[in-house]
Formats: sequence, structure tokens, C-alpha cells
Amino acid sequence: MADLIAAAATPRIPVRNAAGGALGDFPVRRIYCVGRNFADHAREMGAAAPASKQDRGSPVLFCKPADAIVIDGKVPYPPGTRELHHEVELVVALGRDAPAGVLAPAAAMALVFGYGIGLDLTRRDLQAAAKAKGLPWDTGKGFDHSAPVSALLPADDIGDVTRLDLSLQVNGETRQLGQLSDLIWDVGEILHELSKLYALRAGDLIFMGTPAGVGPLQVGDRYLARLGDLLEYEGTIQPSRGT
Ligand code: MN
Repeated sequence: MADLIAAAATPRIPVRNAAGGALGDFPVRRIYCVGRNFADHAREMGAAAPASKQDRGSPVLFCKPADAIVIDGKVPYPPGTRELHHEVELVVALGRDAPAGVLAPAAAMALVFGYGIGLDLTRRDLQAAAKAKGLPWDTGKGFDHSAPVSALLPADDIGDVTRLDLSLQVNGETRQLGQLSDLIWDVGEILHELSKLYALRAGDLIFMGTPAGVGPLQVGDRYLARLGDLLEYEGTIQPSRGT
């Protein structure tokens, strides 16, 4: 049977090698996100940070729609908020389907295709109102243009991400700087936790959580996100388009 409406395009992220050469595109299936994965950020949001790995409970997980991806860095100021916040994050891209069952953290790393640097943009006022009422975060997190992400680098070109830092400048001023060795849940552990709840597939992205220093973005702001000295991604906040 023929489609009765036009199918929406699959969002695609360019993939480059370390020398900047274009390798092709990565089609996005789902976007998972991790909340409160740096102790300093958990504290700035008023949450308790776990004292130890044994004390950390379960990770905070949520989703964004795949078509929230922004490639060119241009983010229209979203509707319905007066408090758009930046959260710079490591982005993990999966290149293989997970086998059935729960993944062991070490085995889970074999699914990783590559990494990028991205922003988990947040309508903080809407998220705060939802939190206060014990309601879901969707309108605060899963909106149009809420997931700007850099080109991806293959995992082999990056090696061990825990030796890298991630940072965000806004208008030339450093707002966020974190060490990936400080993640409360590392990449393998998050894939293990996600595999208890979802069937992970090639094309899935995971935004790994943000360090301290989240704050507002205004129309006209320029941002520059960096993953070590391997990846840079820059963009601007554009006038609102409504929805
Ligand atoms: Mn986040």
C-alpha cells in the first residue's frame, strides 16, 4: 500500500574523521538523555549528589524526539518559555543493535559508533514547574530544535573519552567546563541501564548529562561547544519563529 501522507525525513548527522574528512551520514533513530550525571550540576539544581557509586540508585533518563536535532547550529528561541538554558553534553552514537537482554557495561561499548558534542537545550521554567508538581519533563526538554549536535567522530578516532573535557562558551565567555572522568554513570554503565528498559538500536543517540554552569541563552547569543581538542561546534540563538 502507498503512503497516504509524505513520510518525514530521517534526521541525519554528518560523520567526519579526525582530519576533518567527510565519511558520510549517521541517520538518527532515538535520542535518550541522562539527567544529573555530574555531581556539581546535580547540586546546582538542588538535588543531592550520590556519595559513592554504591549510593547512586538509578540514573535519571528521559527522551527527546529525533527531529529535535539541529545540525547547522542555528536555534530559533523556542516558544512558551522565558528561560532557555544551555547544557553542554557528550553525545554517544550507537552503530549496532544491542543483542536481546541486559547488556554488560563492558560489552555495551562494542555498540558505540562514535561521539559528538551537543546541547541538551532546556526550557528551565517549564521543567521547574513540572518538577514542582511531580509531572513529566517533556515540555521542558523535548521541544523542536532542542538538540543541536556537532558532526560525529568515529569511536576509534577518539579512544577513551574519559580523558577528555567538555566545555561551552557563550559570547566568548566560558560558562561550563567538565571532565568526562567525573561522570557519575559512565558510557558503558548508562548503556547497561538503558538496556534494562529499552531495545537499543543502531541510530540511537545518548546525551550523557551536563556539568555545572547551566544558564540562560538569549536571542543573538553565540555559543561554542568543545570536546577536548577533537570537536568544535558553534551556533547562534535566532529570533523566535513561534512554533
Ligand atoms: Mn541534560
